[in-house]
Amino acid sequence: MVLGAGMVGVSAALALQTRGRAVVLVDRRGVAEETSHGNAGIIQREAVVPYTFPRDWRVVLDYALNRRTEAHLHHWDLMGLAPWLWEHFMNSASDRVEATARAARPLVERCVTEHEAWLRLAGLEGVLRRTGYLRVYRSAERLEKDVALSAEALSRWGVVSEHISADRLRELEPHLQGPLTGGLLKPQAVSVPDPGAVGKAYAALLRERGGRFITADARALNATSGQWRLDADEGPIEAREVVVALGPWSNEALRPLGIELPLIGKRGYHKHYSVLGNAGLSRPVLDVDGGYVLAPMARGMRLTTGAEFARFDAPPTPVQIDKTEPMAREIFPLGEAVDNEAWLGRRPCLPDMLPAIGPVPGKKGLWLDFGHHHLGFTLGPVTGHLLAQMMTGETPFTDPAPYRPERFG
Ligand SMILES: Cc1cc2nc3c(=O)[nH]c(=O)nc-3n(C[C@H](O)[C@H](O)[C@H](O)COP(=O)(O)OP(=O)(O)OC[C@H]3O[C@@H](n4cnc5c(N)ncnc54)[C@H](O)[C@@H]3O)c2cc1C
Repeated sequence: MVLGAGMVGVSAALALQTRGRAVVLVDRRGVAEETSHGNAGIIQREAVVPYTFPRDWRVVLDYALNRRTEAHLHHWDLMGLAPWLWEHFMNSASDRVEATARAARPLVERCVTEHEAWLRLAGLEGVLRRTGYLRVYRSAERLEKDVALSAEALSRWGVVSEHISADRLRELEPHLQGPLTGGLLKPQAVSVPDPGAVGKAYAALLRERGGRFITADARALNATSGQWRLDADEGPIEAREVVVALGPWSNEALRPLGIELPLIGKRGYHKHYSVLGNAGLSRPVLDVDGGYVLAPMARGMRLTTGAEFARFDAPPTPVQIDKTEPMAREIFPLGEAVDNEAWLGRRPCLPDMLPAIGPVPGKKGLWLDFGHHHLGFTLGPVTGHLLAQMMTGETPFTDPAPYRPERFG
């Protein structure tokens, strides 16, 4: 039984089925209708080094005062978030970031090949845009700094970057305009125009091969006589093993079982816009100094925001959309908004920016697969593969120790 039909749960279900398991996939909504539908659709082969808590106190102060567009803080929720932020701060020391990147690398470097294999089986290989992911800079100084760092990213982490001059930028993306000094292209990354459709296609493949999809509330999960049980609309489901892949909601099913991981939902918004004339982008573009992404999608140009730190169920406050939309209009000819309201999603984040993958000690048959932070679309198939290998006794393609759920004590 796999709880949660986002990219992570669907992928775990498919990987288990591939290894001969009979799988029931469970969600209270449809497939990939939450975080896995609203992201920027980038399979981030370059994202080995994690996002960290800033160590420069001027930046911290800017964040605290909501003076930067890439982050937004609900001050009244700070007390509740403080323990997580402190843990994240501790995990952002250089030696720990190094350890996290070392642990992330074997996952991240497989991300494109794992997606390719399933896209092929799902008949969707053509949706992959192999045009990379482009970071553009307003500040020449910041670009220069990142160009210098990119040599290190190549030698240490195998991450390729191409320095793009302002002139070359106009050739690469002729519709970019305004105050841009250049860019860094990450050619190993790929992207899709509808991440939700990819999740749905993987679930369709699962069903074609005999898997079941069932609607139920995972919070009712309980253990009875050696089996895991859940009451669904169509009757009770029982399974010897259960995988919790509920993304940012994972603790809601675990708490009644006496388990809780330090998980937050780092919020992010998106909104779609039409484009003027024949304008377009050939790849997702990150405005580094603005902290937002413009991602060409089937529904229009999707503007996605950076991180908002707020109580899980706080009402949406899409101020980052309001602040970044004019910035986006400076660099690209956006038309009217296509959506009336901004979409709100939550990146499931553990404080060390690694997912939790593996069995829960003392709870026979209970497995976790969540906490994929900014990379759940990228890593779902990879961690599904690893988890399925662990569950079926195959030799895992990498040592799973860095992702063990009990690492938080
Ligand atoms: C703005 C934004 C941009 C992003 N861009 C990227 C990107 O470009 N590339 C990338 O790799 N990642 C990106 N991410 C991160 C990525 O979207 C997430 O890491 C990923 O979607 C998490 O997938 P998931 O399957 O763990 O969670 P989800 O997709 O949230 O799935 C969890 C599922 O659990 C279900 N559920 C919850 N509670 C219950 C319950 N009680 N009972 C039954 N079902 C329940 C939900 O309905 C949902 O279907 C972005 C995120 C945001 C917010």
